[in-house]
Amino acid sequence: MKIAVLPGDGIGPEIVGEAIKVLDTLRRDGLRVEMETAPIGGAGFDAAGDPLPEATLALARQADAVLLGAVGGPKYDALPRDKRPEQGLLRIRQALGVFANLRPAIVYPELAAASSLKPELVAGLDLMILRELTGDIYFGQPRGQRRLDDGQREGFDTMKYSESEIRRIGRAGFDIARGRAKKLCSVDKANVLDTSILWRQVMEELARDFPDVVLTHMYVDNAAMQLVRAPRQFDVMVTGNMFGDILSDEASMLTGSIGMLPSASLDEHGKGLYEPIHGSAPDIAGKGVANPLATILSVAMLLRHTGRNETFAARIEAAVRDVLAAGLRTPDIAQPGEPVIGTVRMGDAVVSALARQKP
Ligand code: NAD
Repeated sequence: MKIAVLPGDGIGPEIVGEAIKVLDTLRRDGLRVEMETAPIGGAGFDAAGDPLPEATLALARQADAVLLGAVGGPKYDALPRDKRPEQGLLRIRQALGVFANLRPAIVYPELAAASSLKPELVAGLDLMILRELTGDIYFGQPRGQRRLDDGQREGFDTMKYSESEIRRIGRAGFDIARGRAKKLCSVDKANVLDTSILWRQVMEELARDFPDVVLTHMYVDNAAMQLVRAPRQFDVMVTGNMFGDILSDEASMLTGSIGMLPSASLDEHGKGLYEPIHGSAPDIAGKGVANPLATILSVAMLLRHTGRNETFAARIEAAVRDVLAAGLRTPDIAQPGEPVIGTVRMGDAVVSALARQKP
């Protein structure tokens, strides 16, 4: 498997460095991966005058998977829009045709106090949100502003999903649920929206191919409420672009620790872009205190979803659980008064935990 490594800006290179250490450790245990690094975001602009240099895109296209740190920083804020780091990210997602965005929200028992919800509500939460990423009201045409007969302006957008778009993301949802607790909750607004009525019909049709998965439906307003009322009722949630945008951010905050959450964006063939959900954290960049665990857990997702190597994926996740259980904390996940360690020591601790797993 070939991985394009795009560290990006701010804390990106620091956290990606630790993820590479983890991959190197597994290589010694027989994992076969090649890695090649290229600049993206502000680093891309510095190197080639473009947040997504041609050579970087070519590398990403050739690779089986892309591991990305984060992009952005105050140094680039004054650039014209098409040169800004975030454009590099949007363009690479578009170019790779990644339509399925997977965002796990996991609350490790040791970190339950970091959540803004009561620990007893969230401890042990293990939820996967699957968001469609390339359709819906964010891309539907027509859209724009027009002048009405009475002279006032009107803004409008178009929500739409074709049957094949729904089937593609729905199938991904069933597949993921099949590898977990086999419960899939499809989120829509079928009481109001025609797009959602079709969504629900197609999900029901798909369910016939997955008799081992329990499919339920929930209106998005109820889903938003249930996520803060009783989030552990969910296993996998699948939904459209806009509802998923909002629900996945809500779910990530249940965990209270942005430095812990990985993500994956997949195309139809299992190729994926893997990245932590957080940004480039310019406020702590260069200080060696960033939490590398979200990026390390993104590697676990990479090995599971693109590499189809559950053993190595599970080993990384177990190693992360071990370091948390041993009380190791970067500042972002520490309780007041708890001793803390930096980025490199956290990466080293995961590597040691991996080494200890050997038979
Ligand atoms: P951010 O996620 O970078 O930071 C928010 C807060 O979380 C900060 O206090 C930061 O120090 C902390 N934080 C984030 N990751 C952390 C980690 N691994 N360990 C410890 N603490 C961590 O969001 P922001 O401050 O709104 O944005 C900063 C820059 O990142 C902006 O340029 C923004 O456009 C960009 N951004 C990039 C991405 C991405 O690359 N996917 C996502 C969001 C924001």
